[in-house]
Amino acid sequence: MSDMKITVNVDEYLAVNKYEVDEETAHIELVDEPSPAEFDKLIRVCPAGLYKRDEDGRESFDYAGCLECGTCRIICGDTILSKWAYPGPTMGVEYRYG
Ligand code: SF4
Repeated sequence: MSDMKITVNVDEYLAVNKYEVDEETAHIELVDEPSPAEFDKLIRVCPAGLYKRDEDGRESFDYAGCLECGTCRIICGDTILSKWAYPGPTMGVEYRYG
């Protein structure tokens, strides 16, 4: 097995995608007062980095920039999400390559 390491700049790849954010209707909503332990899971797994905790411990989430991968739904389901749906027609992420 090779010891060669490859570093990928994910932000660079995400920046080429196009997003049409539905400002009227959030396609993902969280329960009131989500469990910090569950929230921490999502901080680690969301590939778009949309679940955040600042230096004062305040949690934040913004569905804009969502890749619609469903990872948060699979990892935490209804323990933390009160809603998960795909965005409406013509809304959401449009993947671009290169
Ligand atoms: S669907 Fe994927 S990208 Fe969107 S918030 Fe959940 S984990 Fe993050």
